[in-house]
Amino acid sequence: TQFNELGLAEPILRALEDAGYNEPTPIQREAIPALLEGRDVLGIAQTGTGKTAAFVLPILHSISADNKRPAPKTCRALILSPTRELSAQILENLRGYAQHMRVSSVLVVGGLKIGPQVKMLARGVDVVVATPGRLLDLVRSGAVSLSQVRTLVLDEADQMLDLGFIPAIRDIVSRLPEDRQTALLSATMPKPIKALAHDLLTDPKQISV
Ligand code: AMP
Repeated sequence: TQFNELGLAEPILRALEDAGYNEPTPIQREAIPALLEGRDVLGIAQTGTGKTAAFVLPILHSISADNKRPAPKTCRALILSPTRELSAQILENLRGYAQHMRVSSVLVVGGLKIGPQVKMLARGVDVVVATPGRLLDLVRSGAVSLSQVRTLVLDEADQMLDLGFIPAIRDIVSRLPEDRQTALLSATMPKPIKALAHDLLTDPKQISV
């Protein structure tokens, strides 16, 4: 399988070519078509498998297919990860894959000044990449509403469990529309993550790499 057989928009294929990626990795081969069809995904995958592109590329595709701008104080896709470092890395990857598109994105993590994050969110943004604690602070203060989120990604869910983020995740999810797409990725599947997946995902495509 080649990337151009997966149904991704042309500017995304160009960015993959720029990056020198010749073919999709196994998780990309399985997850990208499922996510493009609108399905939920449960992925058991370690770092290094290409999992980031597996969930980022379909988000960029759906943004490319929709020329409406996000309304002020809303976002269209939300990617949650356990640490500010991982969130920063996801955002950097996303901006690389989006280099031939117009996509707005913001990093919402602790340890950075809150002012610029509030300002970006005020305009409305396509993709928010966040850690759960800082995002909840901003939601509670009214800086952003999650009512327009179409796609939720939970990356490294087992690490979020270890860091005590499950209550914050459940609080965040309670503020999202029921009618949305969800992808959950985790290197391991301890019981609380299985339970979370059961509660958040509808008939997910299960992928283990
Ligand atoms: P990840 O598992 O998402 O952390 O990705 C691991 C590394 O593989 C990252 O440096 C990516 O840039 C790279 N990568 C992702 N997809 C591909 C691909 N299809 N071909 C070659 N490298 C890739």
